[in-house]
Amino acid sequence: MKLDFLVVAAHPDDAEMSVGGTILRLIDASAKVGIVDCTRGEMGTRGTQTDRDSETAAADALMGIHARFNLNLPDARVEASVENREKLAALIRKTKPDVLLAHHPEDLHPDHMAAGHLAREAWYLSGLKRLAQLAGDTSAHRPTNIFHFLSHVAQDPTLVVDISHVWQRKLELVRCYESQLAAQDTEDDGSHFLFGSNIEVRISTKARYFGEKIGVQVGEPLVHLGPLPENDPLRQWLNK
Ligand SMILES: [Zn+2]
Repeated sequence: MKLDFLVVAAHPDDAEMSVGGTILRLIDASAKVGIVDCTRGEMGTRGTQTDRDSETAAADALMGIHARFNLNLPDARVEASVENREKLAALIRKTKPDVLLAHHPEDLHPDHMAAGHLAREAWYLSGLKRLAQLAGDTSAHRPTNIFHFLSHVAQDPTLVVDISHVWQRKLELVRCYESQLAAQDTEDDGSHFLFGSNIEVRISTKARYFGEKIGVQVGEPLVHLGPLPENDPLRQWLNK
């Protein structure tokens, strides 16, 4: 299996909520996109494990995602440990993506931060030949670059992806995760636990804010470490 992009997310729904529009655009351009979730979200306040698994399956079908993996790390306890980063590095070698998309290491949720660090460290390690051999793989593979997506902390983006043409489909993707959007009981009004507003409203506000920065209706921000190389594969796919 050879992927063009691998999205590393902490919980099922993070990929769709943060970069669902970018994923749709890439798949529309015939790129092979995979997602690896670190956990199954079993510690989430809303929704059961069964709900979350079937919601993820529905989102996968809507996106037409090429492959979806789960590292099965404990939810709310994700760590960029030696064992976990080698587990992710092995998946990177197996799927050989050209680009990684992962959480920005600066966030409020510790799992998002850990998943961002985990992705950065695994990205580097996946290119070490001797480590690959030690794990029984014949060759190393390091993606060309890594972009970080944002969840709870705003950053200045290196690139904003115009998602205007796939916006309605992105909202449908977000709505697949019904258990995360709806109130669970009388104490819960369906708002985000930290930010108060409804999750769908928050996603729309952010998309309009970042879209405005590049003069389009809605956009998704990405941060790249250092300047973008001229032949960056993400932009090449988006321009197809
Ligand atoms: Zn999350």
